[in-house]
Amino acid sequence: MGEYSEGVEARWQVRKLASLMEEQLQRNDHKGKEGWRDERGAWLMAKLIEEVHELFQTTENESIPLSQVAAVVWQEAADIANVAMMVADTYCVDVGAYETGKEAPDAEAV
Ligand SMILES: [Mg+2]
Repeated sequence: MGEYSEGVEARWQVRKLASLMEEQLQRNDHKGKEGWRDERGAWLMAKLIEEVHELFQTTENESIPLSQVAAVVWQEAADIANVAMMVADTYCVDVGAYETGKEAPDAEAV
């Protein structure tokens, strides 16, 4: 991991976010891989707004110890990124932009 297209190194913040996203997804794999594809688009959009609200509340919460702020804020950002990914993936499947059951399409082709 670390490269998102030929010869281009992803910056550390992008790599960190991607790692946190994948860790969270793997914690939920017992619910079924790519289980979000069973959700309705409207539900996922509402979930995305909920996650944005959680990040906002976290940044407004002055009671979080400074030693924990980075971990909490990054995790909330990863939650948003994961649901945004689910919205994009589900939408593309629903409209037939790519097929389910196949390997993820080449990012450049999406
Ligand atoms: Mg959250």
